[in-house]
Amino acid sequence: MQKYMRFLLGVVGLLLTLLPATAQASGPGDGIPSPPADPQIVAALKAVSAHQIGQTIEKLVSFQTRHTLSSDVPASNGKGINAAAEWIRSEFESYSKACGGCLEVKTDEFIQEPGTRVPKPTKLTNVYAILRGSDPANASRIVLVTGHYDSRNSETNDATGASPGANDDASGTAVSLECARVLSQHRFPATILFLAVAGEEQGLYGSAHFAKTARAQGWNIEAVLNNDIVGGDRTPGDTKQDPQTVRVFSEGIPATATEAELKLIRALGGENDGASRQLARYLASVSQRYIPATQFHPLVVSRRDRYLRGGDHTSFNEQGFAAVRITEYRENYDHQHQNVRTENGVEYGDLPKFVDYGYVANVARVNAATLASLASAPAPPAKVRVLTKGLQNDSTLVWEASPGGLATGYQVLWRDTGAPDWEHAKAFGNVTQATMPMSKDNVVFAVQATDSKGHRSLPVVPMPER
Ligand SMILES: [Zn+2]
Repeated sequence: MQKYMRFLLGVVGLLLTLLPATAQASGPGDGIPSPPADPQIVAALKAVSAHQIGQTIEKLVSFQTRHTLSSDVPASNGKGINAAAEWIRSEFESYSKACGGCLEVKTDEFIQEPGTRVPKPTKLTNVYAILRGSDPANASRIVLVTGHYDSRNSETNDATGASPGANDDASGTAVSLECARVLSQHRFPATILFLAVAGEEQGLYGSAHFAKTARAQGWNIEAVLNNDIVGGDRTPGDTKQDPQTVRVFSEGIPATATEAELKLIRALGGENDGASRQLARYLASVSQRYIPATQFHPLVVSRRDRYLRGGDHTSFNEQGFAAVRITEYRENYDHQHQNVRTENGVEYGDLPKFVDYGYVANVARVNAATLASLASAPAPPAKVRVLTKGLQNDSTLVWEASPGGLATGYQVLWRDTGAPDWEHAKAFGNVTQATMPMSKDNVVFAVQATDSKGHRSLPVVPMPER
């Protein structure tokens, strides 16, 4: 009997510990409800092909080197970076042909003046394709995917030796191309730009030029996804690679924050809420919606990049754009920036045989889902503010309507100040103000625009308004 009572008490205790959690998850405004999947995005992800990606990577490797300093070798030679650029351009053209000319294929060619790792004036060519938004009121909004197609070996400035660059970064270039191929079969209200840049290994020169031009011309780039080393290295015998995980790096404090903005970030604890960090979280949540986590999932790393290393997303950050870096879970340094050789039985070199095409395909799906979700969603609400004039324990958020007319409502997100990701959401109709029954001092808020089909904009954290 005593045993039975103890069992019963145990069950009641267990229920009591479970109950509040359950109520919290399903209560109004609590938890983040997952909107329905968009059938168009599901169809696009289905079309992503590991086989196609493998062919792209092997084709890029076939140019023997894509070193930026090989740009004095004519494309007709069949080797070197010009031949690679020409092939990328023709590949974009072939995707465009398959969608009735829906892509605008362009090059951004310029002479890079001498600098670190660029001994003489050097021609650089970025290649890109634009899938123009179908809604005139939203077509000026741009989401962008990029990878660098230049490569290198052990010698920084060796422009002739073999530099296969299969993982670094034919894999990222293949992601950009594959996104172009599958997404160009669909139409989105906002514009998607598919980019392949040169000059990364010599000092981010291609992306820097592109990002500066975009800033100077006033392009409205909402998001940049930089894919660099996304091959999921699968060296025989390595047991530490995680083939289901890809890392997503993002800056917390914007590179372009002014002194006044930095002051505010310090005062309010905004270190974890820059626009790039919001993009990283958004990418993770979209991935969760479209790709079973048991198959593949992003790991949000809350730092700009790996220790003392850089990438093209930083060029965009430095021009004030939200940008993240996507990189395989575990890098193998024997297969990056190495001359192809075997030493003491160890194979060095960035060869296609170490790249997992299925892994790259999953990375492409994460990218395509994020690009398509953002290009389908309303623009973020403008001028989001939290009122701080009176001392109150409730919090009133105000914003200006999402421009472009796609929004049918808004959602307020919030989380504990120490939590890494949004924990709760409350949906509102087509309003520009919401009062939350909790103190702004105790949580982090954000507002995102929504539509009736479940698309959501990037969240915007409010600035204080007196
Ligand atoms: Zn790279």
